[in-house]
Amino acid sequence: SRQRLVVGNWKMNGSLAENASLLNGITAHWQGAEGVETALCPPYVYLSQAAEALSGGPIKLGAQTVSEYSNGAYTGEVSGAMLADLGCRYVIVGHNERRRMQGETSDRVAEKFHAAQQAGLTPILCVGESEQERDAGMALETIGHQLLVVVKRVGLEAFARAVVAYEPVWAVGTGKTASPEQAEEVHRFIRAELGELGARTQILYGGSVKPGNAEQLFALPDIDGALLGGASLNADDFVAICRAA
Ligand code: 13P
Repeated sequence: SRQRLVVGNWKMNGSLAENASLLNGITAHWQGAEGVETALCPPYVYLSQAAEALSGGPIKLGAQTVSEYSNGAYTGEVSGAMLADLGCRYVIVGHNERRRMQGETSDRVAEKFHAAQQAGLTPILCVGESEQERDAGMALETIGHQLLVVVKRVGLEAFARAVVAYEPVWAVGTGKTASPEQAEEVHRFIRAELGELGARTQILYGGSVKPGNAEQLFALPDIDGALLGGASLNADDFVAICRAA
């Protein structure tokens, strides 16, 4: 059976002082969450702070994005090797906020996925439909296309060392969660699209997951954990969701 995984995406939040108290709150109240695999993805500039606070403990480190290039004249970018150097195990690729606001196409997301694996990192590939796409009955088609572009670049085998996160755009930061039926339908679809590896790949749900709805989502057969935004900025909420996983 698949290992449960809960990942916190801090997005562009925090400060040295806030992070110190959040990290301390999480590690101090960790009892009861031992069975779950967990990672936190702070902004780049706080990776070393988080690495130090989490070192030797059960919580792994991740990053929120990665350059598709390995090194060179790419001002402002950070490579997979640099992230691995700082102790990252995971990196999120293709978050919808980057697809929409940084203009990341599925082709670039596929390059980032590949670059992450080349550096020994586990990519967490985000896919998900917009509200208009769902309303038009195009949710599965949209997600299928986002996946296919990556599969074409890296091959299905690459998903033996990757995580997929289903994040419906309309559920991210809105307080609206996909219903258990909607989430399960998409997770089952993603698993089927991954062929034989589908049964092994961890597939997370993301979008307004909170302590109050986590248990219901984790009870679904094809949901292996969560990718948290807002709830990962609160130590009690984060630990409560990890305990529910
Ligand atoms: P929220 O949990 O704040 O809705 O964000 C989800 C998300 O985008 C995680 O990557």
